Amino acid sequence: MQSYDAIIVGGGIFGWSAAYHLQQLGCTNVLVVDASAPGIATTGAGAGFVGAWAAGFGPAGWGQNELALEEYSIEFYRALGKRADIQLRENGNLFLARTKAGYDAYIAPMLRHALTPPDIQSLDAGAIAELSDGAIAATEVYGATYHPRGIQVHTTPAVQAIADAVLAAGGTAVNGEQVATLLMDGARVTGVVTRNGHSFMSRTVLLACGAWSNDILATIGMTLPIFRVVATRVIGNASGVPSGLPTIMIPEQGAWIREHKGGLLWGTGDGYKAVQELPFDLPIGTRPYYPELVTSLTDAVQESFQRLFPKADLAVREWTQGVPVYTVDRTFIAGPVTAIQGLHLLTGDNEAGVTHGPALGRLAAEQMLGRPVSDVDPVVFAPGRFTTTYADEAAVARAMPPRR
Ligand SMILES: Cc1cc2nc3c(=O)[nH]c(=O)nc-3n(C[C@H](O)[C@H](O)[C@H](O)COP(=O)(O)OP(=O)(O)OC[C@H]3O[C@@H](n4cnc5c(N)ncnc54)[C@H](O)[C@@H]3O)c2cc1C
Repeated sequence: MQSYDAIIVGGGIFGWSAAYHLQQLGCTNVLVVDASAPGIATTGAGAGFVGAWAAGFGPAGWGQNELALEEYSIEFYRALGKRADIQLRENGNLFLARTKAGYDAYIAPMLRHALTPPDIQSLDAGAIAELSDGAIAATEVYGATYHPRGIQVHTTPAVQAIADAVLAAGGTAVNGEQVATLLMDGARVTGVVTRNGHSFMSRTVLLACGAWSNDILATIGMTLPIFRVVATRVIGNASGVPSGLPTIMIPEQGAWIREHKGGLLWGTGDGYKAVQELPFDLPIGTRPYYPELVTSLTDAVQESFQRLFPKADLAVREWTQGVPVYTVDRTFIAGPVTAIQGLHLLTGDNEAGVTHGPALGRLAAEQMLGRPVSDVDPVVFAPGRFTTTYADEAAVARAMPPRR
């Protein structure tokens, strides 16, 4: 049996970010155990948009705490992009309206938002076409706001780069091993045991298990109030899209669009479905496969997006899906489990884990080591904030506040 200063179960963006920050705080002997490999599960489906969502684009309840996480993460990826090829693009976030109604409902309020970045720009149709290097048809848009500091990354290489840094600094990865149970000594965690019977010992354990968080928590009689969805993204053929295209959000269509290797990458709510509405039984560490959601996505927006990007070839070249984990209050879960000494949680990504992951990893690491917490009020993210129990994920979904 090997012993570690800290064990992290789950090697997505959350788990590896926590490992990295544990090391930054002097705890080098960390172990990350994953049923799969770094950044392959939901993180591997992530579209890689990173921005100041709390400044009027994220859920209404997000505020200074979420913004502080976003600002730290943007700088984290900027620094990481200098050391490794994570396909970082410093191209800004464009929040676009195609109609006046869309502008009045979603875009104008962003200009008035209390957390609006000082360098925000307001763009008319001509300026939008110019910013996109002619890729967007000016006749198809009404107006936009532009956050120049927003970025995009490629998720799996980003997690791999973080993992490489952790391993180079003396950390350990065990891939392809599924943790079955926690080892306990009374009310204290002492390690984990995998399905293959391997035991790893530590008095500090972080569960960063994404969509499978409640599976492992069930072994200690705990359930988080989470609601999981299958989300789809597609990539078109490589043509007609400049590499400097900003990441684009169109709230009135629930759409997000960016450049990927010369083509468009995009998704909308038409490619989403709650797991309870699907025949859902996803092996740990894998990504789902529901082609019908790709069909509903393309049927809903292909024609409209073709008018918006007349030069792009939108024939679907590849697609993938992942399982974001929403929480009943729409914000993240990061902190200790009060009933079990040494056990910490990091999950509830609310489909924004690529953006917030690095900073949440730092928050988890600081709490695991009992250090002062940087930039945020940890109470907002504490697992202990949930006092109501819900019958199932549908009940959690019903209790969630509307996004805006
Ligand atoms: C289509 C799509 C687009 C998205 N776009 C964006 C975006 O543009 N920007 C953004 O910020 N976010 C985006 N997201 C959300 C983002 O991808 C997630 O928030 C993030 O990846 C969650 O990371 P995670 O580490 O919690 O989960 P995961 O990446 O799923 O990692 C959890 C890991 O835990 C492991 N695991 C679980 N249980 C066990 C166990 N018992 N033993 C061992 N290992 C275990 C799994 O193998 C897995 O590797 C998107 C998501 C999707 C699906």
